[in-house]
Amino acid sequence: MIIVLKNSQQDKIQKLCDLISSRYNVDVHISYGKSKTILGLIGDTSSVDIESIQAQDIVESVKRVQEPYKKTNRKFHPDDTVITLENGCKIGGGNLTVMAGPCSVESQEQIIEIAKSVKKSGANILRGGAFKPRTSPYSFQGLGEQGIRYLINAKRETGMPIISEIMSSSQLPLFEEVDIIQVGARNMQNFELLKLLGKTDKPILLKRGLANSIEELLMSAEYIMANGNEKVILCERGIRTFETMTRNTLDISAVPLLKKLSHLPVVVDPSHASGIAWLVEPLAMAAVAAGADGLIIEVHNNPALAKSDGAQSITPQMFDGLTGRLKKIIPALDKEF
Ligand code: PEP
Ligand code: MN
Repeated sequence: MIIVLKNSQQDKIQKLCDLISSRYNVDVHISYGKSKTILGLIGDTSSVDIESIQAQDIVESVKRVQEPYKKTNRKFHPDDTVITLENGCKIGGGNLTVMAGPCSVESQEQIIEIAKSVKKSGANILRGGAFKPRTSPYSFQGLGEQGIRYLINAKRETGMPIISEIMSSSQLPLFEEVDIIQVGARNMQNFELLKLLGKTDKPILLKRGLANSIEELLMSAEYIMANGNEKVILCERGIRTFETMTRNTLDISAVPLLKKLSHLPVVVDPSHASGIAWLVEPLAMAAVAAGADGLIIEVHNNPALAKSDGAQSITPQMFDGLTGRLKKIIPALDKEF
């Protein structure tokens, strides 16, 4: 249930929140928007007396929210959520954020070399996997703790914020200096992990599962938010379909849908969506044109020798071409890059 308030003083708003939460035993979430203040009621709202709330002089309207996702719902928070990283980099709300780097961190030299080149081309955030969810147990599993250390060194050397994937709760202490924690497609419904990440104050990039619906993605984001962490970034990375020409099928309609249904930033991963290096740029362009707040792209200095996902990795030169052409379409989209 949401309660839209008229312009009112802070103490009156607080009084109404206290009254509602004690009388009906529900949590009240306040969203101070640019034009409106909204109270979101979470819990069993069946006993809430709508008429008596409507009778309060600071209340403009009361509406029931049918969707099972609440904190992620744009009805609870009409303005875009903007996540600001320690270095001031903003994600969401009219900014285009480009995350780039290798699928896996392979060595200190490799990650620093790629970081420097993608930074020069305009990337805002460096990606690199240290814990890799591989289909085969015999494939490269990532450098683990060492990989995170290399990534942190690349951050120190270039000043770029970093993003890396967590696979289990025991790895969390290693992510202290990681700016954004990625939850991969395979862990989208690892609810215990989501609850734990909800208790941190790190931005979380939550990837859509291989066979998960948009509503399931929002419910997983809700797990993180319900546990206290509101800094969630949604990521469309392609889903499984009958099509075999591409590794996955980029669900481009997920972008405007997620933007409409939720206030959270939406990022697209054209690399895992296609599995093919030359398809990365057209999909990236389509994603930005469809309203994505950012991109996460795999870039490798030598894709042929990459320890994971070489076929979909673009070279630093290709990445430079991509960001150059991206800059040309940005002015038409009312975004900053
Ligand atoms: C990755 O980012 O390298 C990765 C494994 O992504 P996903 O979870 O989307 O497959
Ligand atoms: Mn990958």
